[in-house]
Amino acid sequence: MESPNANRPISLLLHEGATDHITGYAHPESPKRIRALAELINTDSIAAIARPTLELHRSIDPSLVHHPDYVHALENACLSARDIRALDEDTYVCQDSWRIACEGLSLQEQAINLIFSTSSRTFVMSRPPGHHALADRQMGFCLFANAAYAARYAQRVWGIERVAIIDWDVHHGNGTEAIFLNDPSVYSISIHAHPFWPLGFGHPEQRGEGKGRGYNLNIPVPFEAGDIQYQQIFERFVIPELLGFRPDLIIVAAGFDAHYSERFSNLGEKSFMALSDGGFAMMTAQLDRLARELCDGRLHFTLEGGYYLPSLTSGVRSVIETLSSTAPPQLKEVSEGRDMDTRVWEDFVTRTGMALKPWS
Ligand SMILES: [Zn+2]
Repeated sequence: MESPNANRPISLLLHEGATDHITGYAHPESPKRIRALAELINTDSIAAIARPTLELHRSIDPSLVHHPDYVHALENACLSARDIRALDEDTYVCQDSWRIACEGLSLQEQAINLIFSTSSRTFVMSRPPGHHALADRQMGFCLFANAAYAARYAQRVWGIERVAIIDWDVHHGNGTEAIFLNDPSVYSISIHAHPFWPLGFGHPEQRGEGKGRGYNLNIPVPFEAGDIQYQQIFERFVIPELLGFRPDLIIVAAGFDAHYSERFSNLGEKSFMALSDGGFAMMTAQLDRLARELCDGRLHFTLEGGYYLPSLTSGVRSVIETLSSTAPPQLKEVSEGRDMDTRVWEDFVTRTGMALKPWS
């Protein structure tokens, strides 16, 4: 039998110029992230991959997902910055940040175009991340809502109806949720540590509003869950919801800060979750299988968080290897989570399941 990945290319769109977005000394969202990924891609033979030439252009339209007032304010704030400017307590920009944020959206467009014109699967590796950015303001390192923009662009330009966004970053994708809260055409599913930053968001009872009710799903995971727990999350919640929704495109907001090695900074704090590279491979393989089953294999990844460089690069490598492998995924290691209290886990499963009930 032919391998499901035979003749299915993956295109990596690495935003090398994103190193010019300067966030200041010791900021975890640093240019080193892009340099580490560039080294991974340029020196390791991780896959037979297509690397399209990046012809960055300025035809993007951030108002697909952002208020024009915010877009203008962001442009002014960046272009008038003489050094590094703080837009809020976490989010910093420099003069080049405007250009880089726009190029990031351009890469989203190019990736979506590749999916529909060449049947490639795509992975945009850019910075800053996007899933905390709101329609009307920056938040949590994020300037533009990259995954949300990719979804809207695919709908507007390629005429598809339904997009599913799966966000496995350890932080809740509050920006994506807010942008599509009233929209039944984009099903936003966020798997995140809880209670955690951004505090006050990410409860399973938030299932969307108005016409969008039933098309938002928060999966607030107890800390230190590992591959086994994430596999259960996929089997019990993510896969059935995607099968029911039948998306025309699946977008992954791929953060790597749920890895067991993540430290968020060099200060040596404990990691939040216990996913291994094998866990990222498992989630990738499941979503790739669902994309083949539901939407002609249309699958797009966009980089969110992941700040400890060794686990950022090993997680990204795991995704790429899974997408390019012609053999079924083999789990090299399986993390079961650390000290996972059975009662805490069962409470989580029950609460998430209850939130799903009215629509199941
Ligand atoms: Zn994160």
